Amino acid sequence: MEEAKNPGAPQERQLNFIEEIIENDLAAGKYESILTRFPPEPNGYLHIGHAKSICLNFGLAQKYGGKTNLRFDDTNPSKEDVEYVDSIKEDIRWLGFQWANEFYASDYFEQLYIWAEELIKKGLAYVDDQTQEEIRRGRGTVGQPGTESPYRNRSVEENLTLFRMMREGKFREGEKVLRAKIDMAHPNMLFRDPLMYRIIYAHHHRTGDKWCIYPMYDYAHGQSDSLEGITHSICTLEFDVHRPLYDWFIEKLGIFPSHQYEFARLNLTYTVMSKRKLLELVKNNYVSGWDDPRMPTICGLRRRGYTPESIRLFAEKVGVAKRDNTIDLSLLEWCVREDLNKRSNRYMAVLDPVKLVITNWEEGKMEIFNAPLNPADPDGARRAVPFTEELYIERDDFMEDPPKKYFRLRPGGEVRLKYSYIVKCEEVIKDPEGNITEIRCTYDPDSKPGAGPWRSVKGTIHWVSKDHAKPVEARLFDRLFTEAYMDSIPEGSDYKDFLNPDSLKVTEALAEPALLEDTSGIAVQFERLGYFVKDPDSVPDKPVFNKTVGLKDPFKK
Ligand code: ATP
Ligand code: MG
Repeated sequence: MEEAKNPGAPQERQLNFIEEIIENDLAAGKYESILTRFPPEPNGYLHIGHAKSICLNFGLAQKYGGKTNLRFDDTNPSKEDVEYVDSIKEDIRWLGFQWANEFYASDYFEQLYIWAEELIKKGLAYVDDQTQEEIRRGRGTVGQPGTESPYRNRSVEENLTLFRMMREGKFREGEKVLRAKIDMAHPNMLFRDPLMYRIIYAHHHRTGDKWCIYPMYDYAHGQSDSLEGITHSICTLEFDVHRPLYDWFIEKLGIFPSHQYEFARLNLTYTVMSKRKLLELVKNNYVSGWDDPRMPTICGLRRRGYTPESIRLFAEKVGVAKRDNTIDLSLLEWCVREDLNKRSNRYMAVLDPVKLVITNWEEGKMEIFNAPLNPADPDGARRAVPFTEELYIERDDFMEDPPKKYFRLRPGGEVRLKYSYIVKCEEVIKDPEGNITEIRCTYDPDSKPGAGPWRSVKGTIHWVSKDHAKPVEARLFDRLFTEAYMDSIPEGSDYKDFLNPDSLKVTEALAEPALLEDTSGIAVQFERLGYFVKDPDSVPDKPVFNKTVGLKDPFKK
């Protein structure tokens, strides 16, 4: 696991291994400029792992004056949808990147088909009538060579006829496949006559019912890269065994030599990342949708209050590794805090209010404090914070019998109400059950900021004026899963067994009125509590705020 230790320290970063390769290629004059691609399968929404890949592919092109294509890898018609295509484009743009071209692997179906016939003619592909199960068994094992299909030595003419009939829909699904003819004893299992095409009678979101044979990933991906002239095709580590096959097809076809490079996929603690699992969470209502703020999807993070800047910073911090690892979720949280701390407007809100009454305040009087919207910009815009006789403070900012080092309010103790006066607790009123209903205080009129010499007390707490407070719904989130390493949960258990039952808490909070006039468009800081962002569920009378992250890492020792 990589620690988020002092991630803010300035650092001169060394080139990562992909940057090294690119710089060498450019220096050697291998390419005039580089072309990368981001190749999502439109079968789900993008998640933070994809964001890592997007930042890498687009970032490299930006750094070296190249370009990046967006290519939808839509070779599997049964799981794909336009809804996903649209969301993917929206998320990439939101992250701050623009692709040079929008392509679809399905645009290449005709060319791929022509190339398949070419391989048949070269004696490098054949139609196999074996069942899926027979093919699987015939492949052998790592220690044992496979056995050749009885259909392996069909003539070129017969293969061509059968392959054309496959295309024309003359066979049922599973009845025939097209396989590359390579080596059934090859030490790399993927070389044991890999499938190139299978028959699928499904409506494709772009090509409709034109095709009933669809290319396999290994046959489509490299050729798609090559057709576009991709120079550096970057994918995750599990594809390293596919690389020789990627090269094999390109070599046998004699087409533009794209090259594949692998980097470690991003794993995060307390998170599942596979689209299949995320889809299951959505479909079975474990979350409210793909954009539920607890989801690791880009739209979920956006709704949670993450900014594009914070995600790009995260991708940079994570870097490019050659070995799989799991990144601590707290690094992602650190990144958004880092960004919002600089930019977000401040407001006071009380999540768990208890009443505080100032007994020596002139009845009916209101005073306005002009507080900075952002302390980083003290000369910048300000907000008006009304102060009156009756206020609310946070219930846990008062303790009757506090431990040592508790610097907030206590009986007989003093505290500063942020931006305003120092108050002293004189009396505590309780209901018959013993719950505190009111804290009665006196204020020190000479403690007004700027009015005289500054008197300091140990604690400062936030507050809102009772008659001015605006009710807001606050949604407080916790990790969606209780287990840090979701990739190594015990054999036989299901990832859903580790769903955190307390990942969402909803409370009625009270906020200073200026909050409702905020126009910054990004998350704001509720002072002393954390960052919160307005949720699309908000209605005029009832704004809803999602907690993005607290002000400090609660798990830091
Ligand atoms: P999943 O396994 O989550 O469904 P996938 O790899 O099937 O993801 P694709 O749509 O095929 O999803 O991925 C598009 C690109 O994003 C690929 O280049 C893939 O390598 C990259 N990618 C996907 N997940 C991650 C991850 N966790 N970390 C880094 N890159 C990723
Ligand atoms: Mg995939």
